[in-house]
Amino acid sequence: MTRPKLAVHGHFYQPERRDPFSGQIAPQPAAAPYHDWDARIDAECYKPNAERGNLRHISYDLGPTLASWLKTNDPSTHQGFVDSDLPEEIVDRDCGNAMAQAYHHAILPLASLADRRTEIRWGLRDFDLRFGRRPTGIWLPETAVDLSTLRILAEEKVRYTILAPWQAADSRLDTGRPYRVELGGRRSIVVVFYDAALSAAASFEPDATVNADAFARDRILPRFAGPAFPDGTPVMALIATDGELYGHHQKFRDLFLARLVNPGPGVPDRGFDVTTVGQVVGSTPASAFPPTQIVERTSWSCHHGVLRWTGECPDASDGRWKAPLRAAFDRLASAIDVIAGGLAGKFMEPGALWRARDEYVDVIFGTETPDGFARRWLPLATPERREAFLVLLEAERWRLAMFASDGWFWGDPIRPETKQVMLCAAKAARLIDDAAGTDLESRLVGDLSLLSSPSRRIDGSAIYREALADAGQPLG
Ligand SMILES: [Zn+2]
Repeated sequence: MTRPKLAVHGHFYQPERRDPFSGQIAPQPAAAPYHDWDARIDAECYKPNAERGNLRHISYDLGPTLASWLKTNDPSTHQGFVDSDLPEEIVDRDCGNAMAQAYHHAILPLASLADRRTEIRWGLRDFDLRFGRRPTGIWLPETAVDLSTLRILAEEKVRYTILAPWQAADSRLDTGRPYRVELGGRRSIVVVFYDAALSAAASFEPDATVNADAFARDRILPRFAGPAFPDGTPVMALIATDGELYGHHQKFRDLFLARLVNPGPGVPDRGFDVTTVGQVVGSTPASAFPPTQIVERTSWSCHHGVLRWTGECPDASDGRWKAPLRAAFDRLASAIDVIAGGLAGKFMEPGALWRARDEYVDVIFGTETPDGFARRWLPLATPERREAFLVLLEAERWRLAMFASDGWFWGDPIRPETKQVMLCAAKAARLIDDAAGTDLESRLVGDLSLLSSPSRRIDGSAIYREALADAGQPLG
């Protein structure tokens, strides 16, 4: 008799909130009594979940921008996330609890292929440096997916990811087991589709998660009522939500999670076992799972594909500003790449800058100094050339960061999330303009004037000026 299994995945993520010019987070009054949202959500969610040992019993991804904040501002909680990856009972290092995350939380199907590779490589490398092992699974930002993205994952030896059930081409697919998606060229990847009903109840029905025992009995157990799989595979249900649900989006749900995944000896048998995604698929060959197909350019938090981050998705109050913002940033990114490639061509072979970009995450993580990195790539160059090389990589870093999905998620570009991505764009443009004598920033300002805030009725160039003035970097 194979007992059914419950797995819980928490997607723990915050965007980069540090101003790229000062490296500081501006006070966020709405997060009072805390200085900013990172501090508040840490107190309400990250710290209690780490301290209660919840992470030892769930799957989770810890976004690199959040991980970096935690490491600086709450090292013991950061260590809790790291140590919970491989509790003593998990002996196979491929089966750890933690998953990587694409680095800046960009919507990968909307990114260039080169940017997707960099975001994925940075995410995998950050994980390796942080957790001390090569990751086997990766979380795609907003679970936004297409076949090209999955092929890059497979090339990078990623074995599995998690998707929403409506991202499966077969709308009646039984999500009670993992599947294999064939990618051509003898590549494939394992996809675990989460349970829509359980995940929605956990996320959006506060009354359902007041009592973990009742949730287990009334919500989870009925999901296991159907027949077992004919081949003996135990039925599995995955609850996947934002990790911040457990204590921040909903108070005290860190306690709910503790009771649900680690009930302790006094609790009567519930009729199912608790496992993690890593333990179910971490070291099992993809060929062991039945095949299925995905719907391309879909995501978990938009039912209109990836429109939420690129156009007028009906779920957002106003999306008219999103396409011009993306067009402005796409044009800036192309220009930066052309100019940076041209400058680098004076002292590097063609293509070397882009290979260096893929490894630059080591400098951001701090495992290599900027000078050491530049000497490794340009051992014979003058100090001025090495300095110029590092400026190009910093420009590339911020032009990657400006595509964080948060900038497009809401209904108004006046929000701090959009101002933050504008600051990243400004930082990147100014680094290149200073290095090359170009005027990318003026062109960016002109492009931004084509979008407008529905609430304030000011255009994007005025929002950009406001963000820069607040950061103490006014537009000249
Ligand atoms: Zn939508």
